[in-house]
This record gives sequence, structure tokens and C-alpha cells, in this order.
Amino acid sequence: MALPGTSSGLHIVHIAAEMAPVAKVGGLADVISGLGKALQKKGNLVEIILPKYDCMQHNQINNLKVLDVVVQSYFEGNMFANKIWTGTVEGLPIYFIEPQHPGKFFWRAQYYGEHDDFKRFSYFSRVALELLYQSGKKVDIIHCHDWQTAFVAPLYWDVYANLGFNSARICFTCHNFEYQGTAPAQDLAYCGLDVEHLDRPDRMRDNSHGRINVVKGAIVYSNIVTTVSPTYAQEVRSEGGRGLQDTLKIHSKKFVGILNGIDTDTWNPSTDRFLKVQYSANDLYGKSANKAALRKQLKMSSANASQPLVGCITRLVPQKGVHLIRHAIYKTAELGGQFVLLGSSPVPNIQREFEGIADQFKNNSNIRLLLKYDDALSHMIFAASDMFIVPSMFEPCGLTQMIAMRYGSVPVVRKTGGLNDSVFDFDDETIPIELRNGFTFSKADEQGFDSALERAFNYYHRKPEVWKQLVQKDMKIDFSWDTSASQYEDIYQRAAARARAAT
Ligand code: ADP
Repeated sequence: MALPGTSSGLHIVHIAAEMAPVAKVGGLADVISGLGKALQKKGNLVEIILPKYDCMQHNQINNLKVLDVVVQSYFEGNMFANKIWTGTVEGLPIYFIEPQHPGKFFWRAQYYGEHDDFKRFSYFSRVALELLYQSGKKVDIIHCHDWQTAFVAPLYWDVYANLGFNSARICFTCHNFEYQGTAPAQDLAYCGLDVEHLDRPDRMRDNSHGRINVVKGAIVYSNIVTTVSPTYAQEVRSEGGRGLQDTLKIHSKKFVGILNGIDTDTWNPSTDRFLKVQYSANDLYGKSANKAALRKQLKMSSANASQPLVGCITRLVPQKGVHLIRHAIYKTAELGGQFVLLGSSPVPNIQREFEGIADQFKNNSNIRLLLKYDDALSHMIFAASDMFIVPSMFEPCGLTQMIAMRYGSVPVVRKTGGLNDSVFDFDDETIPIELRNGFTFSKADEQGFDSALERAFNYYHRKPEVWKQLVQKDMKIDFSWDTSASQYEDIYQRAAARARAAT
């Protein structure tokens, strides 16, 4: 193993708006900790910069303490002080930024969804770079993620490089092109970016309206641009790019899709402390014990131990195929299975619609809808379910299908994005048999979904031995970050080598 500071160990800093388990909204959080740990294990020095949210899980941070130094940072024509806290999360060193700004940017009792998100995260991006600049650290790679920290790329090259802070190279990962961070052009000036210089079609002006677009800016200004699966990287070169397809084509040489891994320490059925009974591929007794426990906990029918349980854990947003999730509830009931949904929606009418469905089924002991975010319960559902549905309209990578397989729950998914790179149809004879691990469908309609779910039910009921082998095979697939982290390491190394050659 190479040690940090030696020729092959890199100094990598992630600047992000989320990190599991301390500040998690979705998959981005899992990536920061999973990729961070894997890169650290490979001998790199990895540090992470996060906002100090009032609502984060403070009990997940070790040795949280405030530093003596205060970092002064520019915003809207003034300098503002920022307290810097340090701590470790899952063994990774973290800097938490606490602005002393009257806008109380991270004292909002939620991570996103505020009227001034653009301001809050442009402020954060600027302080994160200021912290690195003032610390005098010799960073090799600054890795920013999604629109919230996309500001880092133009700030670095247009502001900080001019101050002599230019040894690092910038990697930007877009976890979802649906969210691009657009605003009136003049809002770029808050964090000290030059509006006139950047509000141009080849820089940060959005491709279809007069606003500026920070994800576009990060694509233009970063040295490396990645997204989270090879199939999604293809999809976003056309409609999936949500208007950025031409920008991605122009910058295609630096753009690559790398499939996310999962954190196999957090998601490990043989050590998972949230489960009633731990289990492994060679000892599946625990899986049925967890199914029994979940049924009891949710007051579901336990009359038939081999009645299949279908799970779904998701943000309820249109991307996730809300209409097919709703349909799956009725279809599972029709097929004689049980269904557990854990999900919450930031969209009030979707949340209300599912509350209505939950109400409709409240006296049905086979269906449960839990419309909230609950990490502990998610572990139990992965363990207890026999099948797991992900009928997304589009899915940059998707983590739940991989977690489900690790827990022996067979995925039924739509062939899109990262689902297409991780789930291979059990009946598809064009695919090598050893890769076939689930059930897939292509068309985003009820018929497509039904045929995949029906095939899964058929195997489950009629070929229990084949099903058991499939479960065991899925549990043994290596979805760890190891391979993907090596790919990131490789592109970082090449960028760092080019940077060294340039000096
Ligand atoms: P996205 O990032 O689009 O939300 P991913 O599949 O990449 O989707 O990641 C979702 C992550 O969030 C998974 O770890 C999943 O288990 C978790 N998750 C989603 N909804 C919930 C919920 N209601 N309760 C607990 N965990 C959830």
C-alpha cells in the first residue's frame, strides 16, 4: 500500500453537500463515504469538506471540534467569517464549514429546498476553496459533486489559480443531470465569479434560455468530468442530458461514466446491526427470520412463510417511475404477494397521493406504505424482501438494486442507466449465464413491468431451488467500491501527472 505523500498516493479533497451517514438525502451521500473510504484504503490522503448543517446526525461524527482559525471569505461584496470544525466520519477526516453570515445558510432544519439554495451553495463552494487556499495544502485533486458544488470548477480556474493556487486538478461528478442549478446570470456574482466573462454560450450560459447553468460551468471548467454509470454517460449525450448534450459532446474527451459501488461495510447482512438476525449466502436462515420479524413489526400477515415479499425503497419523484410503483402495489396484491414501500416525497401532491393509497390499504395485512425516511427500517426491508423493484424512468446509477442483491433480494428493474449496467435478465440467453441476476423490462409501461414481475413470481413459486441459487449468487456479487475506486484513481493519476508536467 502506498502511503499518502509518496509518489503514488494522491491528496484528494471532496467538496460535497452530502455524506452518509452524517448528512444524507440520497445516493450522493453514499458515494462520498463509499468512494472516499475506498480511495483512502488504497493509500491516498482523502479529506472531505461539508457544510455544518444544524440538522445533520451529529452523533455520527467523532472528535468534532472547532479550529482556532477563522476563515474569511468573500460574498456579495463583503468578507464573512467562517468557523471551521473538524471531525472524522467512518474514519474519514472532515472539515465542516459554519458560516457566520446573517443568512444563517445551514441553520434551516433541512438540507435542500430553501428559496436561496443557489446562494447557500455558492457561498459554501467559495469558502471550501478559500479554506484549501489559506491552509497552503498541496492538493492533487479537488473533486466536486452535483450543482451544489459545481461552482468550485470556475472559481478555481478563474479566481484561485490567478492567486497561485493552481497545483490541483478539478474532477466534477454529475450524479443526476436533472438538477443543473440555473439562475439569473447576475447571481453568479455573489460568490465572486465574473458574470460578463462567464455568461457566454461556450462557458456558463444555459443552452436553451438566458440563465446561467452551474453544471454546464463545471463541465466546461473541470479537468475531468464523470457521471455514475457507463449507460447513463451514453444516455446523457442525447435527451438524457437535459439540454447539456451538446456541451458534453464538445467536452467528450474528458467525460467518462464510472459505475458507483456500494459501501460493503455499511451494507453487509452478516454484520448489519439493524437486522434481527445476521445472515450470509451460505446461511439463509437469517433472511427468513428477518422476513418474519418485519412482518411482525409492520403487523402484516404471517400466515404463509413462503408468500413472496416485494420491497421498494425510494424517493418518490417522477424519475423513479412513481406510476409504476403505484401499479406494482396493486399488481403484487393481484399476484398474491406482499408489498412494503419505504419512501417519501418532496412533491406534495405525490406525497398526498401515496398517503391516500396507504389509507386505502390500511386494513390489508399484505400491503404497507411507510411514507418517511428511515435508515434502520431500510436495512430491515432489504433483508426481509424476496424481490426488490426499481422501475425508474431514468436512473443515473441507482444503489438500491445493488444493496438489494447483497441482501438476497432479487431486483426487478427497468433497463435504464446504471440499472442496465448492474442488473441482467435471468431469462436473456444473449447474456452469459453467470451475469444473469434479476429481471428487467424496457418499456416504461405497465405491461413491461408486469411481465418482469410475473416471471420473478413464477420462478419463486415454481422453481424454489433455482430461486435459492439465484439469491445466493446475487449475494456473492462484488459491488464494492474497489473496482470503481481504481478507475477514479487512474483518471486522477493521469490528471495529476499532466499537472506535474505542466509546471
Ligand atoms: P437517489 O440518489 O436518486 O435517491 P439511489 O438509489 O442512488 O437514489 O440512492 C438512494 C439511497 O437512499 C439508498 O441508499 C436508499 O436506501 C436510500 N433511501 C431512499 N429513500 C429512503 C427512505 N425513505 N428511507 C431510508 N433510506 C432511503
